[in-house]
Amino acid sequence: MVHRSVQIGDLACSSCGLEEEDSDHILFLCMWAKAIWLNVWNWLNLTGPDPSSIEAKAIHAVKSLNGSNQWKQLVEVVLFSTMRKIWKYRNSKIFEGRWEAVPKMLDGIKEDSCMD
Ligand SMILES: [Zn+2]
Repeated sequence: MVHRSVQIGDLACSSCGLEEEDSDHILFLCMWAKAIWLNVWNWLNLTGPDPSSIEAKAIHAVKSLNGSNQWKQLVEVVLFSTMRKIWKYRNSKIFEGRWEAVPKMLDGIKEDSCMD
């Protein structure tokens, strides 16, 4: 009984603590991830649903964009670097107790994508 309740506690998202933590939640659905995606989308000057909205899951968000294939490829690079960063920042929070503010994470994503 005690063991079971500990496990349920462990399943809660380590960022928001509101929902069960699975990879979709961590990368897209968490309010913390949503804040990052919104900023990335603003930075790219993109309107329309960002990858954190349910109707535009990740890769579909890129496919539905207007623009050249080259531009879409670029957005895709940013998309993957954003996912990598979200994962990395989450791990450093859990394992090292370090927590970056969203603007700082955004800087890291921009650096990673080699454009600004
Ligand atoms: Zn969460």
